Amino acid sequence: MSGNFGDLRELYQEVIFDHNRNPRNFHEMADANRSAEGYNPLCGDQLTVYLKVDGDVVADASFVGHGCAISTASASLMTEAVKGQPVDQVESLFKDMHAMLTESHPEGRDFGKLEVLSGVREFPARVKCATLAWHTLHNAIASARDVAQTE
Ligand code: ZN
Repeated sequence: MSGNFGDLRELYQEVIFDHNRNPRNFHEMADANRSAEGYNPLCGDQLTVYLKVDGDVVADASFVGHGCAISTASASLMTEAVKGQPVDQVESLFKDMHAMLTESHPEGRDFGKLEVLSGVREFPARVKCATLAWHTLHNAIASARDVAQTE
């Protein structure tokens, strides 16, 4: 293994530790119009994602919950990445993130800071920790298409 690879891993871990210690957008959202809950029984990770969808744009995103460092960091990085993005781009990011975390890096996609999560591919037991926030995000967006809300 090259020294550069080691440095990169260290940097990735730094970012994950930082987002776990100080999760961004970690709060309930009183004026959210979409939300979904996610649970990863393999690890016990539990989170709720809140979105404020304004027209075709995810105007705001936040989450609450508890879980391991990977699940918290993934949710924190996710809320940062999707805030202010068009819904269709968020959905496309969900698909590419899922591919990146479970299979391989989709060609031509620059994940920016989200790249730090790619390391979980080496640890199959942790993949669901990283994908949980994204599945929950996807479910929250899907709920945006429901015209009828019962609550
Ligand atoms: Zn976990």
